[in-house]
Amino acid sequence: MEEVILIRYGELNTKGKNRKIFIDRLEGNIKKKLSSYPDLEIRAYRDRMYLYFKEYEVNKILDNIKDVFGIQSFSLAKKINNDYQNIEDEIMNIIDFSLYQTFKVITKRGDKNYPLISDEINRKIAHRILKDTTLKVDVHNYDLGINIDIRAGYAYVFFDKIKGAGGYPVGISGKGLLMLSGGIDSPVAGYLSMKRGVKIECLHFASPPYTSQKALNKVLQLASKYLNYVDEVIVHNVNLTDLQLLINKNVDSSYSMTILRRMMYRIAHRLCELRDIEVIINGESIAQVASQTLQSIVVINEVTNRPIIRPCACLDKLEIIEQAKKIDTYTTSILPYEDCCTIFLPPNPSTNPKLKRVLINEERFDYEKELDKCLEHYETITINKDNVNEILHIDEDLF
Ligand code: ATP
Ligand code: MG
Repeated sequence: MEEVILIRYGELNTKGKNRKIFIDRLEGNIKKKLSSYPDLEIRAYRDRMYLYFKEYEVNKILDNIKDVFGIQSFSLAKKINNDYQNIEDEIMNIIDFSLYQTFKVITKRGDKNYPLISDEINRKIAHRILKDTTLKVDVHNYDLGINIDIRAGYAYVFFDKIKGAGGYPVGISGKGLLMLSGGIDSPVAGYLSMKRGVKIECLHFASPPYTSQKALNKVLQLASKYLNYVDEVIVHNVNLTDLQLLINKNVDSSYSMTILRRMMYRIAHRLCELRDIEVIINGESIAQVASQTLQSIVVINEVTNRPIIRPCACLDKLEIIEQAKKIDTYTTSILPYEDCCTIFLPPNPSTNPKLKRVLINEERFDYEKELDKCLEHYETITINKDNVNEILHIDEDLF
């Protein structure tokens, strides 16, 4: 008897003729995720995948699979010969019935030529269990669910369905540039977009020496959390110091935040062009702060025609925090290091900026030259499993 991991697809099922592309991508992503297990074998079919493993610790493999997007659920299954008597005998052998009180048999017959229909199999197996053990049937509240999946030549028997990460395989939906601050919202925004199959690159703005190496490390630490879902994370670190100083010197203070954010979007827009990335993603949430009122968003958004995906737009802060805790970014996000948005925070940022006045303010300095500079000198850091420790320990006593 062989053990195999049975993987059920998520929303891929609705994807018609694109299904093969989705399945191939999922297979590739699973292989990457499990690259430290070179002897694994994946057999992918229209409706599910089977993952064959050698003498590895199966629990670790199952743990890894939990974070792969595009999987609805998975099970550790016994693969056996599908002769009816064999199925019945194996079930009686495999299960330690002393652990349970109630059961239900759930048969699915993928092989429509099989001589017995599902209901007959359910009844026959149940009959045998009732005869040989003290268990009772309870179809609503059972503590042992015996799933039998009949396929041509084989049957798969499993007991638990483990919930998968859902969503689409990362990479299937194109690329997004995630504006990643050290805050709570943007790491969640990145996670939610990856879950929809978007491959992300991160863009971080730093303003040294006003923002510290510790603040940057915090961002890299947050980005590294994405290694649970992808095999590498790219972070572009753009130095915004000179631009910020110019904004502060030249712009009406109530408009400095609006204009700073327009500059950020301009840089993000250009980086998308340079890196062949379709959309910008950020952690904005409607009305959370002055720059995120709908009126501010209109004026800030005006500098780019790239779609801006805001996965947190309609979530309450508490909902975002809940999600951040789930993906283990929260405790890092609340470390108290400064962000370039907070260092020169004006006392009275406008919640209802007017485009005309923004444009007048922007004419007061040569921001194009500064944008060019930002894009000539940015630094790109690629984090993967091999270098993550080295990258996060630039300063040993950071966290
Ligand atoms: P977060 O929103 O991530 O919790 P925050 O609340 O400090 O951080 P906001 O002022 O709400 O940030 O900024 C809104 C969004 O702008 C962020 O979610 C992020 O996408 C982007 N952003 C802010 N600061 C930066 C930065 N230093 N680098 C890159 N993106 C940033
Ligand atoms: Mg925020």
